[in-house]
Amino acid sequence: MKCLNYDVQTLTDSNGHSVHICRQTGRWVCSEKLSGDETAYLKGGYAPLTLSRFTPTPHQIILNVTSRCNLDCIYCYANEKNVQDITEKVFSDTINFIGKISAGRDCSILLTGGEPMLLWDRILTWINKYRKVLPVNLGYSMQSNGTLINETNAAELRKERVNVGISLDSSPNFHNSYRSGSYELALRAINILRQHKIGAGARITVSAESVNTTPDTIRYYISQGIRHFTIGFIDPLGRARNKRELLPSSQQRLKLQNEMFQICVDEYQNKNRIEILSVSQMIVNLLTNLRPSCCPNSPCGAGVSLLGVNTNGDVYPCDYLFEPSMKLGNVADITTVLTSIDKSKELQKLQYSHQNECNLCAVNSICTGGCRVSRYAYDKENLSFPNCGYMPTLVADYAWKITNDMNTRRYAASIATGDVKSPSFGLSPVKGTLTIEKEEKCLT
Ligand code: SF4
Ligand code: SF4
Repeated sequence: MKCLNYDVQTLTDSNGHSVHICRQTGRWVCSEKLSGDETAYLKGGYAPLTLSRFTPTPHQIILNVTSRCNLDCIYCYANEKNVQDITEKVFSDTINFIGKISAGRDCSILLTGGEPMLLWDRILTWINKYRKVLPVNLGYSMQSNGTLINETNAAELRKERVNVGISLDSSPNFHNSYRSGSYELALRAINILRQHKIGAGARITVSAESVNTTPDTIRYYISQGIRHFTIGFIDPLGRARNKRELLPSSQQRLKLQNEMFQICVDEYQNKNRIEILSVSQMIVNLLTNLRPSCCPNSPCGAGVSLLGVNTNGDVYPCDYLFEPSMKLGNVADITTVLTSIDKSKELQKLQYSHQNECNLCAVNSICTGGCRVSRYAYDKENLSFPNCGYMPTLVADYAWKITNDMNTRRYAASIATGDVKSPSFGLSPVKGTLTIEKEEKCLT
């Protein structure tokens, strides 16, 4: 028997409009006063969103190929103490590992670092050498600072069908001050990649200082032909741990997420199809029953659909947190990793269902808890998680605009129906759905 205690809560958007949402079903309506029909709608369609937690079928590996970097970014979360490159043995063990755990699904490897292009010649040889090892399709992508991209390696990347995400910070000034003066090289890389018809998106890391200039920066990059954006906020990790002044506030995040939504809508009206992943994620979660489980989509796939592998082959729930307590094993020993995925208390702590606040939150079926590592980092520093300070208002803002503005609705529909597609830097969203454990507890 299903739980009958449906919990309908009222959110208020930035302009004071009311949006009512059911915590269990994820259904919502924009209405000043709820009618009986609307209440029935909110509580109807109860279909538990299901994706087994801790089911060991990861099929996406974030592979850290080197901890070396040719830049010195001020907020880098990489560990600079143990400078190490991946060996061929670890690379081939990783290929075998992903083949065994992926349960026949197509797999992807995102090459990161440090700067992965420092090792490109070796990686290229290995990609070719181990191409035929797996019985499933294996796609590669890369996150790079772009400084080492040239015509020759761009042609090789194209031949190997490696999508590349280039890290670009907000305005040129911020980029140069945060990322060792590399702005021109990063932009040049995007142009070279585009000329070689390589799916190239921009990953923009936003700080409290750069957040206000980010919308103009995105518009500028759009004018330069970039269509796919991933926006990340600086977290209190790595070198940014002691730079709290760089952490964007909830209000700054709310404002930026709304402005980015408007940019997407405006561009869509001009027949220019832009995708900003956090915007798309919110739309998909608001308008569909899908919760693509992969980073940077929601819910967080750490330890579920995705694993991080360090240069020495050690496996973690996500590359964003190579911390000893999070280690699940090594790619050379698949049994230990699978056992750890099932039993790791640290991994379970990262998971959505163990966040009490989320279980009680009105917007949990839309927000899905945000980035686990980000939350972990904020908790560890005794800081409140910024998502919680703005997500209910943001959900109401998006819901109200989708309902009341025709242009917004058209763009949202195009995203929800997959009209605008993201390369996701090779990480294909999975049409999975989410188990909300509180719902299981409701079953009697
Ligand atoms: S992260 Fe915060 S806003 Fe999101 S579901 Fe959890 S409690 Fe709610
Ligand atoms: S912890 Fe964060 S970075 Fe890692 S998979 Fe989850 S959402 Fe992505």
